[in-house]
Amino acid sequence: MQQRIWLSLAHMGGKEQAFIQEAFDTNWVVPLGPNVDGFEADLEKYLQVRNKTIAALCSGTAAIHLGLLLAGVEKGDEVICQSFTFSASCNPIVYLGATPVFVDSEKDTWNMDPALLREAIEDRIKKTGRKPKAIVPVHLYGMPAKMDEIMAIANQYGIPVVEDAAEALGSTYKGRPCGTWGRFGILSFNGNKMITTSGGGALICPDEENCRKAIFYATQAREPYPYYQHMQIGYNYRLSNICAGIGRGQMLVLDEHIARRRQIQRMYREAINPIPGCRIMDNPSADFNSNFWLSCILVDKDKAGFSAEELRLYLESQNIESRRLWKPMHLQPVFAHVPSYTHGISDAFFETGLCLPSGSSLTEEEIQRVISCIQHITGRN
Ligand SMILES: *Cc1c(COP(=O)(O)O)cnc(C)c1O
Repeated sequence: MQQRIWLSLAHMGGKEQAFIQEAFDTNWVVPLGPNVDGFEADLEKYLQVRNKTIAALCSGTAAIHLGLLLAGVEKGDEVICQSFTFSASCNPIVYLGATPVFVDSEKDTWNMDPALLREAIEDRIKKTGRKPKAIVPVHLYGMPAKMDEIMAIANQYGIPVVEDAAEALGSTYKGRPCGTWGRFGILSFNGNKMITTSGGGALICPDEENCRKAIFYATQAREPYPYYQHMQIGYNYRLSNICAGIGRGQMLVLDEHIARRRQIQRMYREAINPIPGCRIMDNPSADFNSNFWLSCILVDKDKAGFSAEELRLYLESQNIESRRLWKPMHLQPVFAHVPSYTHGISDAFFETGLCLPSGSSLTEEEIQRVISCIQHITGRN
């Protein structure tokens, strides 16, 4: 059996351990410390946002939680969320006692359909007498959502946007980095994302004041007293100085990793698009510049002669990991009772799509092996 090809593995650049060693040498093996400050500053510079507006946190999920909290989401509220996403986009809505309202995706970006978003807002106002408290669009697999259109609608109704850029570090839309469009933006540094801190995330805030508040809530909401005084419920959400050290090392190779993922997408696209019924997800126009965190294939069974699931099983038999696309939230049993606005587009993506091995550490030979397998199953039918 040939060596296993994984979907997306953590990929170290080499400098990570030096930052960790420094933390040990200076006894900063604690949450907070110079690596946390340094990592936040690196991210601010990379995303071209003002100083002290990014809070490094222990996960992307924690960042969404605090973003929604600071956007004013409370018990009994409704929050609109893209349905075609990972459950972490919407779980924090429930943590806050609010109800998610799901909106389907559009065909070209796979992300929140602006027209359906407007329809959903209007309908919620009509049905409940109140407008939703926040909107959570997602840049799925690194592909930017149409943030200008989504922001225009959100601003028209005065609803804050918490932009889930967990998969989109390095992606831009109309030249502007994903994560910097909404009132709040969130990033993830989990093991398989663009860069990793082993586990971690960040909240991109509109100003220093909100960033200070985020850090306050992330450190147990301790008031500035000589003893432990609490006037709010807090959380233990800060990133550790050790994890932030990994992040600083990863920032040194981020651009290389993005370039490599884009190259992998191009290799797949050139080899696979000519196959009948197969199409690799691509930027819809020059306005979009995806980081191509994961390369995805759509399979039209009638034309290809095999389904996405049959392809997955075949790749698995060849010791190649691939994965079905996110199952939309409106199809999840746990969210069966919540309102949703859908038109079948994300349902179809879920049925016909697959994520292919896309990690930046994959070799040319490994990508070629995946391509050969897809060509082989095509020829077989
Ligand atoms: C990974 C991910 C998250 C959550 O990030 P964690 O760091 O794993 O908590 C949120 N949203 C999306 C779309 C993700 O892919």
